[in-house]
Amino acid sequence: MSQAPLDTDHNSLPVAVIGAGPVGLAAAAHLAERGVDFVVLESGSKVGASVAKWGHVRVFSPWRYNIDSAARRLLEADGWTAPDSDWLPTGAEIVDDYLAPLSKLFGDRIQVDAEVSAISRLGYDKVRTSGRESAPFVLRLTDGREIRARAVIDASGTYTSPNVLGASGLRAFGEETVTELIDHALPDVLGVDRDHYEGRHTLVVGAGHSAATTLLALAQLKDTPITWAIRAGNASRTYGGGEADALPARGALGTRVHTLVTSGRIQLVTGFFTHRVNAHTDGVEVISRDPLGNEQSVVAERIISATGYRPDHSIAEELRLDLDPILGSTRALAPLIDPNAHSCGTVPAHGVDELTHPEPGYYAVGVKSYGRAPTFLMATGYEQVRSVVAAIAGDWEAAHSVQLDLPETGVCSSNLADTQEQRVGLTTGVSGGLLGTPLVLATIPSDGGGCCG
Ligand SMILES: Cc1cc2nc3c(=O)[nH]c(=O)nc-3n(C[C@H](O)[C@H](O)[C@H](O)COP(=O)(O)OP(=O)(O)OC[C@H]3O[C@@H](n4cnc5c(N)ncnc54)[C@H](O)[C@@H]3O)c2cc1C
Repeated sequence: MSQAPLDTDHNSLPVAVIGAGPVGLAAAAHLAERGVDFVVLESGSKVGASVAKWGHVRVFSPWRYNIDSAARRLLEADGWTAPDSDWLPTGAEIVDDYLAPLSKLFGDRIQVDAEVSAISRLGYDKVRTSGRESAPFVLRLTDGREIRARAVIDASGTYTSPNVLGASGLRAFGEETVTELIDHALPDVLGVDRDHYEGRHTLVVGAGHSAATTLLALAQLKDTPITWAIRAGNASRTYGGGEADALPARGALGTRVHTLVTSGRIQLVTGFFTHRVNAHTDGVEVISRDPLGNEQSVVAERIISATGYRPDHSIAEELRLDLDPILGSTRALAPLIDPNAHSCGTVPAHGVDELTHPEPGYYAVGVKSYGRAPTFLMATGYEQVRSVVAAIAGDWEAAHSVQLDLPETGVCSSNLADTQEQRVGLTTGVSGGLLGTPLVLATIPSDGGGCCG
């Protein structure tokens, strides 16, 4: 017997897209172009909810690489005018000038306040095999609804699952008791979050470029003591190559942090392995215990945890996934995106073949598909969904023919950043535009390599 006990015509169901970020909405555009029915389920109250959280950050890839081809065609057919292709938008501009108008084209096929809590196949737990492929997917939402789908494109990102403070990748003891005093990377220190920080001793944990950017912003606040804690024995990786750095903007970022450390504006603590966090009369005490058992501690009023992000595969727990044991991407994708071998500019084009799990019809795409690798770019995500949607539509020739038209140096132009800085008179740390904020660097683990570098 291979017949599933179903009363539903599998292929008459919509494709469910989880997440209305840049890649989820690009998937919607490709599905719309191919005439495949779909529904987009977005947990936020608006599309681009995660991008909006870093809306004050200006990215390093210009508009030309941030707009999906199918989305562009649909938008232009509707009378939309694309922004200046050389402009480096902020997250807020990506939402307002691109994602919001795009989502309007899809009407009620975009559902906001619709958080997916679990995915399975109707009538099938993970173990049951016979007839599995013809069983529709069932997506359970936190509001109690269940939605059936013929395929699932999971573009739910990683921004909602930041890494923990604990140095071993486990929560520091007590971390959950002081969550109201911890922010994750890139809070709007000079904008809406200013009141949280000004005049308060702030501890920044992490050695990536998002930590560096945050330190520079904090340093502009008056009467705000700053402590910066890193696992390494020195901060040379964050300081970068200075004027000799391959990317001048990145080098300048490190140099500025170095200067602030040397002048004493930032107190650097090295060899810091966060182990325990205790509530304290002055805020919070963070205790480090290194592998030899030596302890040191910092008392601060607030913590910014710039330790990167990780994928949350728990919603797909009842599906059959084949995950790389290190990165949490598919195993086929892992060698192509390994940060030890690639920066975002050198990740080869990839599509449905690399994104296929043992569970037919389920695809994790976008930044989630990269797991813990920091090499993701919107442009690669757009090519992923073009290929995946072609496969869902049965157009295997288009699905297998993957290509990316990126310059060899990657899509992140520090020259554009410099030019734009001159054009609009922004400097790193000015509210409303953290020009030069290292994009994917914001997502890398503290000891990770760099994207766009
Ligand atoms: C600060 C920063 C700067 C960056 N700069 C660049 C850049 O210059 N160039 C570049 O190419 N890339 C950049 N990136 C990397 C990447 O392109 C972005 O993170 C991009 O937003 C990823 O798109 P996505 O659609 O995969 O995920 P996201 O934008 O994270 O979207 C995921 C969506 O899913 C929703 N969601 C989450 N869980 C659920 C659920 N359970 N149910 C329903 N909905 C859910 C979220 O609310 C969110 O709207 C940057 C990233 C960061 C953090």
